Amino acid sequence: MLQKNLEKVLRTTKKHIEKLSSLGVKTVEDLLLYFPRDYNDTREFTKIKDIIPNEVNTIKGKLTSLFNINTKFGKKITRGIFTDSTGSIEIVWFNQPHLTRMLPRNKEIILSGKAKIGFNKIAIQNPSHEIIKPYEDQIHSGIIAPVYHETEGITSKWIREKIKPIVDKWLSFFEEHLPEEILREHNLMGIREAIKNVHFPESEKLLLLARERLGFDELFILQLKVLQRKWHWQHATQSQAKNIEIKTEILKEAIESLPFELTNAQTKSLKETLLDFQKPYPASRLIQGDVGSGKTVVAALAALNVVKNGYQVAIMAPTEILAKQHYTTFVKTLTKYNLNIQFISGSTTKKMKEDVVRQMKTGTVDIVIGTHSLIQEDIGFRNLGLAIIDEQHRFGVKQREILKSYNSPHLLSMTATPIPRTLAIVVYGDQDLSVIDEMPKGRQKIITRVVPENKRTEAYRWIEDQIAKGRQAFVICPLIDESDTIEVKSVVQEYAHLQEFIFPNLKLGLLHGRLKQEEKDTVMEDFKNNKINILVSTSVVEVGIDVPNATIMLIEGSERFGLSQLHQFRGRVGRGVHQSYCFLFTGNLSDEGKTRMQSMEKHSSGFKLAEIDMQLRGPGEVYGVRQSGIPDLKMASLTDSVNIEKARNSASKIIDQDPLLKTFPKLAAKITEIQEVFVND
Ligand code: ADP
Ligand code: MG
Repeated sequence: MLQKNLEKVLRTTKKHIEKLSSLGVKTVEDLLLYFPRDYNDTREFTKIKDIIPNEVNTIKGKLTSLFNINTKFGKKITRGIFTDSTGSIEIVWFNQPHLTRMLPRNKEIILSGKAKIGFNKIAIQNPSHEIIKPYEDQIHSGIIAPVYHETEGITSKWIREKIKPIVDKWLSFFEEHLPEEILREHNLMGIREAIKNVHFPESEKLLLLARERLGFDELFILQLKVLQRKWHWQHATQSQAKNIEIKTEILKEAIESLPFELTNAQTKSLKETLLDFQKPYPASRLIQGDVGSGKTVVAALAALNVVKNGYQVAIMAPTEILAKQHYTTFVKTLTKYNLNIQFISGSTTKKMKEDVVRQMKTGTVDIVIGTHSLIQEDIGFRNLGLAIIDEQHRFGVKQREILKSYNSPHLLSMTATPIPRTLAIVVYGDQDLSVIDEMPKGRQKIITRVVPENKRTEAYRWIEDQIAKGRQAFVICPLIDESDTIEVKSVVQEYAHLQEFIFPNLKLGLLHGRLKQEEKDTVMEDFKNNKINILVSTSVVEVGIDVPNATIMLIEGSERFGLSQLHQFRGRVGRGVHQSYCFLFTGNLSDEGKTRMQSMEKHSSGFKLAEIDMQLRGPGEVYGVRQSGIPDLKMASLTDSVNIEKARNSASKIIDQDPLLKTFPKLAAKITEIQEVFVND
């Protein structure tokens, strides 16, 4: 019924049907579920004597006169005088001469439009009009009127007019899909009442309840989906789960031989990870920890434990630089255990690769570290026990699935993009979560300053001083898209400019995504060894690299980066014993941009910054809806932790009770509808 095509139901043009279709609205149901993005509360009428210039005023009164004028320039103007008990005002419409025929004189109507001042006179221009009807029949004014996402030719006014009869006539066919007990438990409004009130709210209170119901609904269905997916995977792989003992003695010794003491948060994450390995199904855990919080060593210790149980470990990182660095760390940390640790990446020679793959397949490799090359077709493992994915947000769900498909290993993901807990529940609902929310002892706070353009020279001189004292610096130029030739040129130009005119006596290096792997490696190596004083780079340095002697991070066009990304850049310094600095240069800043830059000066926690960024720009902007798999929610707010927790708990109860939703066919159907939400590449 509700699947009926709109062209059969709406009286409108083919063009309008096509426009709606481009908004994803094709059926009666789609239209009912095309929710307003906002509301325009016009229940309070403005008295004519109180009209506010340059604002939308909604007035109730009578047209006492109305006539058309043709101007010299061929324009048609309709003028009227509108009167209420407090006075009169002029009304002007452009190019709508039919109004003189349509609008009644001396009868109460409502007008709503912007009051403008011109030629010393105030007039309401191009107002919408509505004849007064009973409240439930008003659709534009005198009510809490819905405002929809508009597109050319499809205005809110148009949508209201089309949707109102649909709501009146078709809503009764809409079936409730939420189980009775859930509605009761959370005191939720029924679906029909909710849909009706979200389009044409009877009151503020009912609107709130409608939004709450629909928001809960959305989150609940998503949670059902992730939890069911988790169940499926655990169920399917149950018999293959590898029981991995905790080798307490070995770990103790390994931890004692580290050059530092683990933080409590690191120990806790390691414990949680190891305990996972003993459950009757493969683990899937995400370790979230700020840049520099020490995730790698946790991964290395977990890997050691797995290898000591006779299984192989694979570690996948998003870039070659990062994978190489992990390789070095692992070799160093695990040196005395005589493990066979191998590296594999796009630039590994064919012969070498074949050799490593052979060792992976025969089981002689204990730990293999690499890039995407780890999940190419010809790869295989003899007995993969643990797969580790670093910076998991850089990978798609699909890549994670491929890695999981080799002998169903335990899965450990790591990310330095801190995601507030509520959001993590929605996005990573099928993973267990550990948080490293504590920095290693003695880490210094990086001094961060937004530098105005007129202090640029001064900043450069200051950097020169620091370099004379032996320190090193990064200069980051914005490069959002690596294939963007113009941007690449700009980093090259900046490099040339700095080298020639600003720091002629220093050695500068250049790094960007277009360089060949060997070139990148050489530059990085030289920078690490202090053969380069200043590294001018695009965002390729964002993840990973560890150069303790670098103490200055200068970022150009800072406003073009997200706070989390800026925080990642900043995390490249402050890794050694010297005080470190971050200088932010910006283009013209919007108010929001200013607030974001100030947040960088003020806060040093990545979690805090992520939260601020989310509030300012919305989760979709911050994490990239497609890239991160964050669902594009229509009604629910990802910052509404109360509703998220509720939805999570209810969904988890249902899945525990009936994972295949056999007794909840309507919920099962809803879940299939959102099949594609999480497939993000
Ligand atoms: P991230 O969490 O960003 O991946 P890394 O694992 O690269 O961070 O660690 C950053 C640096 O901190 C490394 O040089 C590492 O050796 C060091 N480190 C890790 N844990 C500790 C600790 N508990 N105390 C001191 N330094 C640590
Ligand atoms: Mg790391």
